[in-house]
Amino acid sequence: MYFAPNAKVAALQEKLQAFMDRHIYPNEKRYAAEVESGDRWQPPAVMEELKAKARDAGLWNLFLAHSKHGAGLTNLEYAPLCEIMGRSPIAPEAFNCSAPDTGNMETIDIYGTEEQKERWLKPLLEGRIRSCFAMTEPAVASSDATNIESTIVRDGEDYVINGRKWWITGAPDPRCGIAIVMGKSDPGNPDRYRQQSMVLVPMDTPGVKVVRPLTVFGYDDAPNGHAEVLFENVRVPRSNILLGEGRGFEIAQGRLGPGRIHHCMRSIGMAERALEDMCRRVKSRVAFGKPLSEQGVTLERIAEARIAIEQARLLVFKAAYMMDTVGNKVARAEIAMIKVAVPNMLGKVVDMSIQAHGAAGLSDDFGLAKLYAAARTLRFADGPDEVHRAQIGRLELKKYN
Ligand SMILES: Cc1cc2nc3c(=O)[nH]c(=O)nc-3n(C[C@H](O)[C@H](O)[C@H](O)COP(=O)(O)OP(=O)(O)OC[C@H]3O[C@@H](n4cnc5c(N)ncnc54)[C@H](O)[C@@H]3O)c2cc1C
Repeated sequence: MYFAPNAKVAALQEKLQAFMDRHIYPNEKRYAAEVESGDRWQPPAVMEELKAKARDAGLWNLFLAHSKHGAGLTNLEYAPLCEIMGRSPIAPEAFNCSAPDTGNMETIDIYGTEEQKERWLKPLLEGRIRSCFAMTEPAVASSDATNIESTIVRDGEDYVINGRKWWITGAPDPRCGIAIVMGKSDPGNPDRYRQQSMVLVPMDTPGVKVVRPLTVFGYDDAPNGHAEVLFENVRVPRSNILLGEGRGFEIAQGRLGPGRIHHCMRSIGMAERALEDMCRRVKSRVAFGKPLSEQGVTLERIAEARIAIEQARLLVFKAAYMMDTVGNKVARAEIAMIKVAVPNMLGKVVDMSIQAHGAAGLSDDFGLAKLYAAARTLRFADGPDEVHRAQIGRLELKKYN
């Protein structure tokens, strides 16, 4: 396998890189300043400006592989483009390719009815609203989705939803229009994987309450954030169910494939930027009579980072290639492998870059502290490392049955 970009991807790469240089990097500070001034939970004006420019440039919704609503790219074609977007914390949203919206759009695209697509997918694709995915609950170990306790009860032509969720990314954002909520519609079903359903819940439905934003190492990630959300006697029409009752687990498996690989693709870009910052810094500082870049340990760390990034990228390409050719289900071992390998690689590379920066690396001046928090987060989001490792181990052992 050789994963050279084809002409279409190479042209998009060039266009995307130029857009990043011209519009994204120069606006990172403005974005941060706009968040800091005034109400942190109102989207900064600069983002809408960037979105309009990205759309005009044809750099919009590049993620939706194998769909008539996407840009006609495969997962493998999207991977190097998503990597470029991952280099800046503000880029994915500017191109309408950010989490959790991409995973949610894929979910509605694959499992939604035409009516649901018209009502929710369309405004998401147009970047007019945002979305969240509500599975994790404070009361139970949510890495095992069969533990989820929220209830989805049929009542006439409606479903009534009750439950408390947390770490719901995007819920505090005032633009968040729709939540995909996972709960139990048939808790007595002897098949533990048929107890759950997913329903679409508009965020302005009475009974939906964003209780509080949570922080990761002190970062609130405003204006998108991660929130604790209460669903109290929330009533939605039965037509809001996705795929059908008892199919929630099946959707969770399907949704997490694309969502996970997008996180990994972006993480490669984050790691490249951290390494780039490290190289620039060590070339510009002198200690004990010679530039930091000439210290043996620095060369060793730069080499380690380069090797780790290249390895991770190739594994992501392989997973993307398999998703395209044999489907997400057969590719599940590779998806699990990248979900462990890439965030761990990113954490190590960012840590080395922080060390090379000295104490400055811990400040907010270089973006590395926030990047470190993001890398650590990814070892939980979409399932902790241990769950993925257990799956990889089981699949490996299966070969010997
Ligand atoms: C910043 C951030 C954003 C998030 N966004 C969302 C979101 O948008 N929507 C959403 O629903 N959730 C979201 N999550 C939640 C995330 O998916 C969960 O935290 C994750 O699935 C783990 O669930 P838990 O926290 O309940 O951990 P628990 O299930 O309580 O697990 C605790 C620990 O037990 C260990 N463990 C678990 N299973 C095994 C095993 N099989 N073998 C060995 N050890 C094991 C692991 O070390 C694990 O970390 C987010 C989390 C973070 C930090």
